[in-house]
Amino acid sequence: MAQIRIENVRKEFGSFTAVQSSSFTIEDGEFFMLLGPSGCGKTTTLRMMAGLELPTSGEIYIDGEEVGMKPASQRDIAFVFQMFALYPHMNVRRNISYPLLSQGVPKTEVRTRVQEVARILKIQDILDKPVGGLSGGDRQRVALGRAIVRRPKAFFMDEPLGALDAEFREHMAEELRALHDRMGATTVYVTHDQLEAMQMGDKIVVMNHGVVEQFGLPQQIYDWPATLFVANFIGSPSMNFLEFDGMVGIGSDHVTLDGHRFAIPVLRQGAEGRLTLGVRPEHIRFSDAAPYRGRVIATEYLGTTQIVTLKTANGDIKARISSAVSVKAGETVGLEFDSRTLTVFAGERGHALV
Ligand code: ATP
Repeated sequence: MAQIRIENVRKEFGSFTAVQSSSFTIEDGEFFMLLGPSGCGKTTTLRMMAGLELPTSGEIYIDGEEVGMKPASQRDIAFVFQMFALYPHMNVRRNISYPLLSQGVPKTEVRTRVQEVARILKIQDILDKPVGGLSGGDRQRVALGRAIVRRPKAFFMDEPLGALDAEFREHMAEELRALHDRMGATTVYVTHDQLEAMQMGDKIVVMNHGVVEQFGLPQQIYDWPATLFVANFIGSPSMNFLEFDGMVGIGSDHVTLDGHRFAIPVLRQGAEGRLTLGVRPEHIRFSDAAPYRGRVIATEYLGTTQIVTLKTANGDIKARISSAVSVKAGETVGLEFDSRTLTVFAGERGHALV
C-alpha cells in the first residue's frame, strides 16, 4: 500500500504543455480517479506517476520517497492497460505466474499465490485453459490477476473498461471496486466517464487542458464545483447556467435575475460584471406562486422522473422533476431554486464564488 503525492508536476512535449504544474495527494488505500475529456492530460499524469514518462519539472513521491526520475520497474507498482495484453500461447495459470517466475520467486510460492489470486478473482476453474478462447470478462480478470499477483504497492489503470460494452462495463466496474475493497491497495484510475468516476472513486481529480480544475470527494465535486468547467462536466443533464449582469459582495446572500431575487449561500468573495448562476436540474421546483417564470419547451419521460426543458429570461434550462407532475409543452410555470445548492461563477475561467 502507498501514499502517492505529486508536487508542481509539469510535462512538456516539445513546445506543447500536456500537464501544467499540478499538485495533489492520493492517500494510502484510496481508489483515486483521474477524470477529464480526451486530451486533458490524465494519461500523461498517470504515466508520470507510474514511471513510464519523466516529468519536465516537479516531484513525485511514493510513500515519502521522491521517485520522479526512477523507472517503473523500481517503483513497485502495477500498470493495467486498456488492451489486456496476455500471452496468447500460454494458459491462464502461466499468464498469472509469469511476473513472479521472471522475478525468480520459488515455484511452490508461485503456486500458492496464483491459487490465492484465482480465488479472489473467482477464476479457479479456468486456470488450465488457454487464454485464446476466453470471454472478454475472463481475459480482463486474468489481466488483473497478473497485476495483483505481484502484490504491488499501487495499481495504475488507464481506462481498463474502455473496450467493453455498457452492461458488462458496469458489471466489471463493480467487480473492480469490490476487489479493491478486499485488497485495499492504492489504485489510480483514468477515465473520461464522469459517472464511472462518481460511482467508483473515493476521490476525484478533474483535469481540463492540462490543468487540475478540482480535487476532492465525489460529493464535494458534484455539490460544490470549483469552476464552470467542472460544473458542466459532472452531472447528467449538466448544471444549468443562468447568465446575468450584476454585482455581489462579501456577505451577499442573494442574486437578482430579471428583477427577481434568489437566495444563495452567503458569499465570502465578491465579483461584478457578467456572472453565472449555476442550478442543478434536480434543485428546481415548480410553484404556481413563484414570480420567476419559464415556458415549457419539451418534456422527456424517464420513469420516476422527467426532464423538462424551459425557456427563461436568462436562457434555456432543464429541470428534473417527478413524473407525477403534469406538464405540457407551451405552458408557463413558476420556478423556485433550492437556495442551499446554488453556485455563482465569475471571472474569465468561471471560478465559483464561495
Ligand atoms: P485520452 O483520453 O484521449 O488519452 P488524456 O486526457 O489521457 O486523453 P493524454 O494522453 O495525457 O490525454 O494527452 C494529453 C496531450 O498530450 C494530448 O494533446 C496528446 O496529444 C499530447 N501527448 C501525449 N503524449 C504525447 C507524446 N508522446 N508526444 C507529443 N504529444 C503527446
